[in-house]
Amino acid sequence: MNRKYRKTVIAGNWKMNKTPSETKEFMTQFKAIMPKGRWCDIALCVPAVCIPAAVRAMRETRVGIGAENVNANASGAYTGEIAANMLVDAGCKYVIIGHSERRAMGETDADVNAKVLAALEVGLVPIMCCGETLEQREAGITAEHIAMQIKLGLQGVSEDKIRKVVIAYEPIWAIGTGKTATPEQAEEVCESIRTVVRKLYSSKNARAISILYGGSMNEKNAYELLAQPDIDGGLIGGASLVPEKFVQIIEAANQPTV
Ligand code: PEP
Repeated sequence: MNRKYRKTVIAGNWKMNKTPSETKEFMTQFKAIMPKGRWCDIALCVPAVCIPAAVRAMRETRVGIGAENVNANASGAYTGEIAANMLVDAGCKYVIIGHSERRAMGETDADVNAKVLAALEVGLVPIMCCGETLEQREAGITAEHIAMQIKLGLQGVSEDKIRKVVIAYEPIWAIGTGKTATPEQAEEVCESIRTVVRKLYSSKNARAISILYGGSMNEKNAYELLAQPDIDGGLIGGASLVPEKFVQIIEAANQPTV
């Protein structure tokens, strides 16, 4: 991380876990032990039905609530979908876009791009995910694959909006598997993402963008991962469901900047 130039962001991704009642319970416990320091931004991305309970519970705090998906269209005949302005009106600040679990359901880079643009349009912070499969890593094409996802995902994002985008590098083989990328592996890819952003935008903006690592980050490995110069935070699945673990990861982000 490098707090001189960019924000550190610790974001939870609850996936399809917790009901609205359980959300209320979690927030009560989390609020009681939440660190007071302001060394990082904190986000909790929750299932759509939990957003009202999460927003209500966190109203007086600095925790930003987020969604886990958004529809790229502004409104219309898209049964079951949720538009970006609806998320804003519900109190969301963040939205995860292009998580590998959604890509596995058929979401393409073009979909990701349209969603990123829709989020930015209404002032939501998109947490745009990218990541390689184990096969791609073993074939030695990680950097090319990630570069392609970043370029396609950011198409049409203007120079003045790029700083609002948060990028999450999440190797698919590390998500929910207990297998974490080593700090060196994660840093190598996060650095390469910044290089791609630098080629597309100004150096100043590439230096200012927050790049997170996600993939079995937990209270034990967070400090070492977050100590890497180009890892500006974490996108955390399993460990964000337990208040004590999530708090310990936030605490791990309290380290001297490089
Ligand atoms: C995720 O869902 O984005 C994730 C990284 O999950 P986990 O931390 O459980 O691997």
